[in-house]
Amino acid sequence: MSFLDDVINTGKNVVSTAGTKGKEAVNFSKLKIRVSQIHGEVKTKFEKLGEKIYEMAKSGEKDNEAFDNMIAEIDALYAELSDIEKQVDDLKNVVTCPKCGAKTSKENAFCPKCGGKLPEKPVEEQKTEE
Ligand SMILES: [Zn+2]
Repeated sequence: MSFLDDVINTGKNVVSTAGTKGKEAVNFSKLKIRVSQIHGEVKTKFEKLGEKIYEMAKSGEKDNEAFDNMIAEIDALYAELSDIEKQVDDLKNVVTCPKCGAKTSKENAFCPKCGGKLPEKPVEEQKTEE
């Protein structure tokens, strides 16, 4: 249970190993907790961003650096979200169609919805840092 507590307390531990079958349920709830944390963090950051825009509009001064930082933080959270989504898909044994976004069984070679070719295996986490 201590790991769950850690996740709740620090909000920093992200599950990186989703391979072990017997732990699926546990991983699943860990991921769900993290997802709701991220949603909360994103919301807070958007609020701060809104405040910043208001401040800038009022003062007429642009603080582009603060702006960029805030946007980068939000992007990082979104990246983490999509990463978790992939892990959840993996646990559920589904893949997301790269073409239409439909979720379908990993066993399928083609998407039943749009007929697009599905990846053989879910793509290992790709972190594009641009
Ligand atoms: Zn599709």
